[in-house]
Amino acid sequence: MNESQFIRDIMNDILRGSNISFDDAEALLSTDEVLTLAECANEITRSFNSHKVDVETLLNAKSGNCPEDCSFCSQSSHYSSWINKYPLLDKKAIVEKAEAAKRAGASSFCLVCAYREPPENDFQRICETISEIKKMVDINVNVSLGFMTYDRARELKAVGVKRYNHNLEASESYFAKICRTHDFQNRVRTAKIVKDAGLELCCGGIIGMGETIRQRVELGFSIASLAPEEVPLNILVAQKGTPFQDTVHISTDDILRTISVWRFIMPTTILKIAGGREVHFSDQGRTALRAGANGLITGGYLTVDGNKASKDLQMIREIGLHT
Ligand code: SF4
Repeated sequence: MNESQFIRDIMNDILRGSNISFDDAEALLSTDEVLTLAECANEITRSFNSHKVDVETLLNAKSGNCPEDCSFCSQSSHYSSWINKYPLLDKKAIVEKAEAAKRAGASSFCLVCAYREPPENDFQRICETISEIKKMVDINVNVSLGFMTYDRARELKAVGVKRYNHNLEASESYFAKICRTHDFQNRVRTAKIVKDAGLELCCGGIIGMGETIRQRVELGFSIASLAPEEVPLNILVAQKGTPFQDTVHISTDDILRTISVWRFIMPTTILKIAGGREVHFSDQGRTALRAGANGLITGGYLTVDGNKASKDLQMIREIGLHT
């Protein structure tokens, strides 16, 4: 059987409701038939998710000085990165950002803070701020606050949080290479807690950190086992001052293969092309939205600038999709 037919057969199995096996996913991630793979991932996406693209805006509401040592992260206190560091923003400033995100056309607003876990005083301020956003702005509110307890996750649910972001970041077999202050299972635990508490789960990872193809498949399957509603796929943007500052870019084809194969692994999730989109795609991610992705972050990332929302919304319309 030729390779294109192999890819189409797996796609047809998925359209009929079957799951892809680990071995087949690994084979697809090495294929030379990138165009066919992308077309099939797009067909799966359209079949399970229609033509809608989920557009989200992030706010880095507390930046830097994180005690964890994630090697890719310029917000870690272990490295001397020249980012703007600041404590938790006040309620008014955050509500204004949520209003601006809504005006710009975003459907979700994600409030992100660099903590291992939030101190109690900050956590209560965050809950008050979210209550205020829910009163003032018609937008989905998501948060990313580090490790969670069940009780805190319930409090977030009670004030109106829709989705909690907690990425696995790397596969279990590669995790010790990217972080030493916590382990993979710590991350899995919080992901499970937020689901148990009734929040939706946003859980993804980063590729291009020196991992093998097999480890990208492992990461995809580990994420899928948590049944997240949303999966952000980030591509490393090497940050000055971090241990990964000299990491060589992975190829655009490798990125597209990973997006497509993660779509084969997770046919129904929102698969969001996240950090690194503008850096790694000369077309701003148009091909990614035709290769399995059905979401994007607009307006910039935590420590890296991004496109203006108006530019991204225009691109989405131009390729026949909508928000
Ligand atoms: S990725 Fe998160 S936990 Fe790790 S250093 Fe950065 S802010 Fe801290």
